[in-house]
Amino acid sequence: MFLFLSGRPCLDLTTTLQVRHHATPRETLLTPADVALWSKEAGLADGLAVDAGGLERTRRLREVVHRLCRAVLEGVPFGAADLAALNDAAGVPPLVPRLTAEGTKGHCGDLGQVLSTLARDAIDLLSGPYSERIRECAHSDCSRLFLDASHAGRRRWCGMTSCGNKAKAAAYRRRKSG
Ligand SMILES: [Zn+2]
Repeated sequence: MFLFLSGRPCLDLTTTLQVRHHATPRETLLTPADVALWSKEAGLADGLAVDAGGLERTRRLREVVHRLCRAVLEGVPFGAADLAALNDAAGVPPLVPRLTAEGTKGHCGDLGQVLSTLARDAIDLLSGPYSERIRECAHSDCSRLFLDASHAGRRRWCGMTSCGNKAKAAAYRRRKSG
């Protein structure tokens, strides 16, 4: 089961590598089947055919998007190779939307189309007004990127209730002992 807490598909993709600040981050896209499952749970394409090369491509785009978002957070220029990789991924047609018999929205397409849809989402995010709302969870054990859609724009924690709660509990303990 994957979590979709970031508010944008491209940011949710970056969170499939977790605890990035640790010496050994936690990889959740371990097999090609994980990519297919993530795509399904993300509401992108269901029943995606993914091979080992597709797993690599997905992880590579994920890290490209993560580095570009980090560049925004740090106020540094985008890397030229990352820009080229993102634009390449967006250069093929995106997923095709479908209306299902149940009245819900589905998509069809292959992995290249999934990655194009994600790359296009990243382009929209990074070039638009919400680029200033990209945040990294303030919890030291978490590294999730998320979109701060709060009115005040001062959200510090990702959508994991544990992150804000743990940090508040730690602050409470510090106040008590201090
Ligand atoms: Zn968090």
